[in-house]
Amino acid sequence: MEDFIIPLSSEFDGIYFIEGFQHARYPYSHSMLIGDYLIDTGISHKRLKTLKKRFPINNVLFTHWHEDHISGNYLLKDAKFYCHLKDRIPIENVDEMIRLYNVKNTPVEDELNSLIKLLRMQNIKVDALIEDNDIFNINDQLKLKVLFTPGHTAGHCAYYEQNSKIAFLGDIDLSKYPYYGNLDASLIEFEESIARIKSLDIKIVATGHRGIIEGKKKINEEIEKYMSILLERDERILAFFSERSRPIELDDLREHNIIYRKYTAFKDFEIIAELLMIEKHLEKFLKERLIIEKKNGYVLN
Ligand SMILES: [Zn+2]
Repeated sequence: MEDFIIPLSSEFDGIYFIEGFQHARYPYSHSMLIGDYLIDTGISHKRLKTLKKRFPINNVLFTHWHEDHISGNYLLKDAKFYCHLKDRIPIENVDEMIRLYNVKNTPVEDELNSLIKLLRMQNIKVDALIEDNDIFNINDQLKLKVLFTPGHTAGHCAYYEQNSKIAFLGDIDLSKYPYYGNLDASLIEFEESIARIKSLDIKIVATGHRGIIEGKKKINEEIEKYMSILLERDERILAFFSERSRPIELDDLREHNIIYRKYTAFKDFEIIAELLMIEKHLEKFLKERLIIEKKNGYVLN
């Protein structure tokens, strides 16, 4: 067997972690194969072709619309595609991504269009919609449950196989860089979704950009670390408020390395995404009444 196809259970046949190319560093991501159901298609063109030769893939389940999770769709056009209603439009029309990333008429628009071409992305038609708690009875042993876990995108879903207690969390990715930098993201929902995942009885998880994590204790530690990154971001934004006596507008927080501590070669994109993410924190602060809105900006409450 190719070394990127890794069985996840000795007890239950037919569950594989499929490692994305370059350790699933963007623009690639990991997948999970359960029976003839593949979750996400961003492992790379070449790996997907190899996987198709090894296994029948009759169904494709999406965690969400991001390009690094759907780029291989064009290689699976005979399969049945499933996603949540709220992510349907950008999966069916990849040009929608430009709007959702808020990059229209910026240099990033051209970069993203070049990437779409490079990855050979094509539009597909979603065949069926999934909802929270739907169950796919894959065979006598494998029962895959849909967990609607919005936040990273509006329609993000995780998947949980009930007998083996193995879950695929998509981009609740347990990396060092939690992301909610598109217009349809929500930090409030993201935190609720993470809390829901934490409450699950899980033995093994895999995510879109982290490898396999085994054992409830280790999984909980990783989830807590992930949540603490969000809290550190809260604190940095609140500190920004404390340091200034006048009301703050969203744009005052632009390009201050609040979320990206160092901008990289993708600086143009990072600045746009960072401001969108900060906006999601302000939305949360308003709800929690940590800040209030005045005529000329926000102030601490
Ligand atoms: Zn994503």
